[in-house]
Formats: sequence, C-alpha cells, structure tokens
Amino acid sequence: MARDNDPAAVKAASATGSKAGLSIVVPCFNEAAGLARLHDRLSATARDLRAARGLRCELVYVDDGSGDNTLAVANALPASGVDVQVISLSRNFGKEAALLAGLEHARYGAVLFIDGDGQHPPDLIGRLAGHWLDDGYDVIYTAKAHRENESLPHRFGVKTFYTLMNWRARHKIPEDAGDFRLLSPRAATALRQMPERNRFFKGLSSWIGFRQKRVDYEPAARAHGKSSWNYASLIGLSIEGLTSFSVAPLRLASLFGLILALIALFFGASILYETVVYGKSVPGYPSLVVGVMVIGGMQLIMIGIVGEYIGKILSEQKARPVYFIAEQNLKTAESERKDAAE
Ligand code: UDP
Ligand code: MG
Repeated sequence: MARDNDPAAVKAASATGSKAGLSIVVPCFNEAAGLARLHDRLSATARDLRAARGLRCELVYVDDGSGDNTLAVANALPASGVDVQVISLSRNFGKEAALLAGLEHARYGAVLFIDGDGQHPPDLIGRLAGHWLDDGYDVIYTAKAHRENESLPHRFGVKTFYTLMNWRARHKIPEDAGDFRLLSPRAATALRQMPERNRFFKGLSSWIGFRQKRVDYEPAARAHGKSSWNYASLIGLSIEGLTSFSVAPLRLASLFGLILALIALFFGASILYETVVYGKSVPGYPSLVVGVMVIGGMQLIMIGIVGEYIGKILSEQKARPVYFIAEQNLKTAESERKDAAE
C-alpha cells in the first residue's frame, strides 16, 4: 500500500477501480529504449477498443526505479486518445511490487498487465477483452505456446517449480502462464483485497477463483535490452512463490524425515538381530560417518526450509508498505476532456 502524501496520488488512489473501462498496467525497469514504440502500439489498441467496444482505457506506466531515463521517456509519452498515468517508485522494488502499484492506482475497473519490453503482443489485448466482455470470464491469462527458445536447465527448473508448487495443491497454478493477463473488475477488486506483502500475482489470481480462461500465444523476442532475470533471481522468485503459496516443501520435509526414521529403525533392528543371533562384531566407521553426514545434511536442508517460512512470517508481521511512490503524473486524453465538458 502506498503511504505517500502527494495529493494527486491520494486522489488517484481513492478513485481506484471506480470507472467503467480498462486500465493497462505496464511495469517498466530500464525500458527507455523500447517504450515509445510500445506506447504507440498500446495507444492504437486502446483507441480500437474505444471505437469498437466503447471501452474507455488508460495506460499506467510504473517506473520501477529504473537506472536509465525510463521515467523521462514515460513522462513525455503523448496522451493521444487515451489517458496516460505515470507512477514512479522510490527505488527498484521488483516486478510484483510494480504490478501492485499499478493495480492500486488503476482508475478503471478492469485491469490488464503487460510487460514493458514488447514481449507480450498488444494485438492480443482485443481478444482478451472479448473473453471478458462477451464470454464473461474474470481472469483471462496467457501462456507461452512454446518454450523452445529457453535453455534446457531453465525448462527443467520451471518444470520442477510447477510440480512442487502444484503438488497436492487445491488451487493449481497453470503451468507456463505469464503475468500478461486481464482481470475483470471483480477479479481486480479481489486481488486488491489480498493483504499479503509477499506477492506472487500468478498464484494469487488463480487462487481467487471466479471464471478463468487460458489463451496461448507466441512470445516475441525482447525488443531491447536484456531480461533482468538471471538464474539467481529466478531461483529467488521460485522460493518466494513456493513458500508464499504452498506448504509442499514443509510436507516434503516431514515425509523425508519419516522415511529416514523408518530406514534407521529397520537398520537398527537388523544390527541388533545380527549381534544377538550371529554374535557379529560392529563393522567399521565408514558407514557410520556416511549415515551421520546424510542425516546431518538432510536436517540442515529442512531447517533451511522452515527458516524460509519463518522469514516470510517476519516480513508479513512487519507489514511494511510494498512500495513507495516518488512521483505520479496523469495526462488526460483530449477526447476524454471534451467528453467531460459535454
Ligand atoms: N520489471 C520490473 N521490475 C524489475 C524487473 C522487471 O518492473 O525489477 C519489468 C520489466 O521492465 C518488464 C517485465 O517486468 O516489463 C518483465 O521483465 P523481464 O523482461 O526482465 O522478464 P522476462 O520477460 O524475462 O520474464
Ligand atoms: Mg521480458
């Protein structure tokens, strides 16, 4: 939640989700190079939606503490036929926080998330909106049709992540689904009501229920710059997602513990039997040392898992704001101003 004293920001926040229409939220971290082009495409899409469906749109650019001149570029974007809101966070808080900032400042009821690097095709927005307006779906999420351009270890990691995540989970998170998604007004409201600070939007928007619809698409190559994810940050996000969404790792820990205890029990029994019946002497140290090390390692891993959850409890308990807003700008489109005057 934003705790800022900027009157404009407070006003915009109080108008959150109150208007009928669609807010398109674009998280931007060092996207200066491709932003103007994306803006042209998004503006065109928004104008089409207005003309074809009578749907009012706004574009919400969230500058997530970029190091380049993303903020200046975003502030200079023209509001041609569509409102443009620019929110600048006080530092880099990460994509999930940027999405939340957009969600909480979106003035229109329905909300759409789209990446700022041009990898999510704006042409698809019309189709997503159709599933909402015509078919009455609440969460229309997109999934990459293929992952061929990703490395094998990456794909293996993704597979492992979703297997763990969905293991015996009641609310399965669709594999391969991305953040490119449209939320109906009631789904957006539901997401705003989730109080947790450690957010994982893909998981949350599946958890809220309502009517969900999957749409497959071909991802484009990144237009400019490079992905801000590396293996370390992806592993971080996976641990974040797993521990904020599932207790599967804890269950796994108990399961491992149980299995080890059973093995130890049988092993102990067999040693006792051999000693009593055959009078065999104690074998050497190697097996003993290996056993102690395996169990010691297991215990450290399990303690680590429990530690992850305790860390989560700590950060939820501190209840700090997820982000701070440094500045906020709203440019109203010419056509909207005329409408208001009439
Ligand atoms: N992003 C952000 N904050 C960050 C990292 C990324 O707002 O700390 C934005 C980024 O500008 C882009 C989107 O999140 O619009 C997806 O980022 P990226 O392309 O790096 O991820 P990928 O497409 O590889 O999942
Ligand atoms: Mg990308």
